[in-house]
This record gives sequence, C-alpha cells and structure tokens, in this order.
Amino acid sequence: MTKELNFKQELTAAFGQPISENPTQVMVEAAYRHHELDWRYLTIEVAPDGLEDAVKGAKAMGFQGFNCTIPHKVKVIEYLDGLGESASLMGAVNCVVRRDGQWIGENTDGKGFVESLCELTDPSDKNVVIFGAGGAARAIGVEVALAGASKITIVNRTVKRGEELTKLLDEKLPVEADFVPWDGVYAAPDGTDVLINATSIGLFPDVDARLALDVDTLREGMVVADVIPNPPATNLVRDARAKGCKVIDGLGMLVNQGVIGIRHWTGVDPDPAVMRAALEEVFG
Ligand code: NDP
Repeated sequence: MTKELNFKQELTAAFGQPISENPTQVMVEAAYRHHELDWRYLTIEVAPDGLEDAVKGAKAMGFQGFNCTIPHKVKVIEYLDGLGESASLMGAVNCVVRRDGQWIGENTDGKGFVESLCELTDPSDKNVVIFGAGGAARAIGVEVALAGASKITIVNRTVKRGEELTKLLDEKLPVEADFVPWDGVYAAPDGTDVLINATSIGLFPDVDARLALDVDTLREGMVVADVIPNPPATNLVRDARAKGCKVIDGLGMLVNQGVIGIRHWTGVDPDPAVMRAALEEVFG
C-alpha cells in the first residue's frame, strides 16, 4: 500500500496528476514494439537504502541500462563506473548505460531539449533566457551552453538558487551567464533568440497559471519553449504561437530524452512520432 502511494506521488510530482501508467514506460515500449525490439522497459520502485543493491542487481540480471529519477539522480553516481560530460557538470544522472561491462551515467533531459531546439534553430551564438533554476533548468542550461549558446540569462524567484546555477554556467562552461531576480513582470530584452520556461508553472492542475512575463516582448521568429509536458499547450505555448514565435512544447523534450535513452541502450534510432503518439494517448 505504502509502496504504491509513494510511486504515485513521484509520478504526480513529474506530471501533475496521478497517472496509473508511467508515461515514460508507455512511450519507450511503444518504440520497442514499433521497431520489433525484443526488449522491455520496467518501472521498479527502489527505496533510497536499496539503491546500491538495485544497481548491482540490474547488472547481475543483464540489464543494458536504466533511467533513474528523484531521489536517486545524485546518489546513484557513487555506484557507477563513469559519467558523461554533461552529467558530470550537472552532478546528476537520469540515464545509465552499460558500455563494455561498465555502468556509465548520462543526463538525457537537457540533451533531449537541445535535440528539440536544433529542429528549429542552431543554438550556437544564440542569446538564451531561461526561467527557473531547478533540475530542469540546470540540465537545459548546461546542454545549451555545450551546444554553443553565447549568452544565457537565468531568471529565478529564489535568488540563491538562481545565482548558484548562473555561477556554474559562467565558471564551468564556455558561455557568458548572468542572473536576473524574478520579482516583477519580466520583459525579454531585445536580441533574445530563445526563451525557455523551465519552472513548474503551468503544470496540471494549475493550467491557468501564467509566467510573470510581458508577452508583448515575445517577437515573431523567436524560439519559445516550455518544459511542461501536461498539458503540452500551456498559456506560454499559446501566447507564443499567437505572437508568431517558433514553439517547442514539453512533450518534445520528453520524447527526445526517451529517443536518446533508447539510442544509448539498443543502438537503434527510434521513431519520435510513434513515441509522441503514445504519450498523447496517456495524457488524453
Ligand atoms: P524543481 O523543483 O527542481 O525546480 C522548480 C523551478 O520552478 C524552480 O526554479 C522554482 O523557483 C520555479 N517555480 C516553481 N513555482 C514557481 C512560481 N510560482 N513562481 C516562480 N517560480 C516558480 O523542478 P524541476 O526543475 O525538476 O522541474 C520543473 C518542471 O520541469 C516540472 O514541472 C517537470 O514536469 C518539468 N520537466 C519536464 C521534463 C520534460 O521532459 N518535458 C523533464 C524534466 C522536468 P524557486 O527556485 O524560486 O523555487
């Protein structure tokens, strides 16, 4: 009983509502079926004090890898043999892959975002504004910087968190980063190429919530992205479309991090359209 409740609470935190099926599992298994891969993606709850044994057990049982989520994203690093570049910079892992018998930790959240971004624009030399300074903002900030963005502005309500992320980007990555405390309505400066909501504002059930953003500063051709997967058509997504911006919704990032995970584990490049359709069915 307690186990089931905890698992439902984790899904609720990520997707905003109690969902009986894990959307990631549904999406990944749809790709396995489509590509006739005789693989399974299992949802397994692991308590914090069982993490080391679970990692050993996954190797013993011949798993090719796994995703992990809160509260394991940082702690799991102790039990791995190595880290990819961005996971090392972020200090967080959400995808583990077995390479030559070694467990290597990767972070696919930001990479999934950048794949979506590259479909609309080349991130190099772009001026990027990111709302938020939590896990999603950190993953996106690091990957966008690695992809060559020239400037990143972090806009966050809590100053300490915002300054920490800005410092990480400024000191560890080849990008100019600055911080703006979010204490009023934010106006996107002239020259903003990409604007990203990486906060939880707009997540179900708070679907009417709006960013404190002057939407008149969204200009035609600007890329506007929202990480919120449920619902994908947030107020920001609607406002940006109405202003003629190029828009990335939260399903794009979720699908692409799944695409990268499947690529890491199986070597097959899965069809993102099949995965997106499976997710849309879960979210109704
Ligand atoms: P965190 O809790 O780590 O960070 C939340 C961020 O949102 C913080 O910066 C917080 O600001 C800000 N925030 C929350 N509420 C408000 C508010 N009312 N006003 C201003 N700022 C606010 O969460 P994550 O970064 O892990 O996740 C954020 C969202 O990203 C989630 O909704 C999740 O669904 C989504 N996500 C989507 C993914 C995808 O694939 N599409 C992947 C990963 C996450 P402060 O620091 O001031 O508290």
